[in-house]
Amino acid sequence: MAQMFKTGEFADLFSAERGGTDAADCSSDSKYDAAPALLSKEESKIYYTHIHLPSMVRLEACTLCQLRCAGCGVQKGGNDGLGRGYLTIENFTRFCDMNPFVRRIELSNYGEIFLNPDLVKIMHHAKKKGILLSAHNGSNFNTVSDEQMLALVETGFRSISLSIDGASQQTYSKYRIGGDFDRVIENIRKLLALKKEAGSEYPELSWQFILMEHNELDIGKAKELAAELGIPIRFKYNWDPSYKPIHREYIMRETGLGELTVAESRANHKFDPYEFFCYQIFFTPQINWDGRLLGCSRNRYATFDVNVFEVGLAKALRSPGYIAAKECLLRCIRTKRSTETASASAARSV
Ligand code: SF4
Repeated sequence: MAQMFKTGEFADLFSAERGGTDAADCSSDSKYDAAPALLSKEESKIYYTHIHLPSMVRLEACTLCQLRCAGCGVQKGGNDGLGRGYLTIENFTRFCDMNPFVRRIELSNYGEIFLNPDLVKIMHHAKKKGILLSAHNGSNFNTVSDEQMLALVETGFRSISLSIDGASQQTYSKYRIGGDFDRVIENIRKLLALKKEAGSEYPELSWQFILMEHNELDIGKAKELAAELGIPIRFKYNWDPSYKPIHREYIMRETGLGELTVAESRANHKFDPYEFFCYQIFFTPQINWDGRLLGCSRNRYATFDVNVFEVGLAKALRSPGYIAAKECLLRCIRTKRSTETASASAARSV
């Protein structure tokens, strides 16, 4: 049976083995071959992420937003740790040049990516470099210029998850305050028409509908509209613990969901629904729009004292604080502690 690490061993082993070798050169270095024998399968994966650089990262395109969604930290000052701003084309170009091993970038997190004035240039530069972009975390899709629409299709932008929690203006705007349901649907139709005209399957669109008490009865109508548009719809339970489903049987029947709250999910599954975020620090690290390394996409509180735009990703991911944070996080995951903001607590503790 594989040995498990004791506290500190993980970092010790890594620092003894890494010997200052440049990360890009490490993939074929046989001196690391001894590592898996010491590790469990999961830890072995984590060990190798110290050596193999991620081919996918999460790089926030914009922390500005035009809506005032009821539960969003953007409006309540909860995201102040991220600052308000956007990824510039200069920083994006520099990032691509410094980190040629990155092949996929997720641009959305906190904020609305289409408010980034450099987005068209970013899309074209990514295409030139052969990097795939996505906005899978979500876009409210209220404000999308014709130029942006065209660039989405021309550059083969991979996928966009559309955040639409309702099937009418009345329902939608209860949570998405300031949002215009009809405009969102019109924008979707415009993009679908451009895709058709170009004969392109990209960007793939999907509709994300978060369940709330006030929108439960819009589920059927939303399904019909999604079918008419020809895009998949995904119903998601609400992470707000105060959500109490009213029409439980109807929702389960219409959405196919097996659980409707976080508490139910925790009870039904071995893994905490928040836990997958914790793996981002190892496999798909989150970087803020200004280059500060965040670790995971839930972290909006504390950053590691390193800027990816200045030192490059290889050096940033190997900074002592980040390695110590991975170690700390590994302990959190092991002890199955709820780790909603594990990257933040890991960042603070180093
Ligand atoms: S659209 Fe997204 S970022 Fe904007 S206020 Fe709503 S939840 Fe926040």
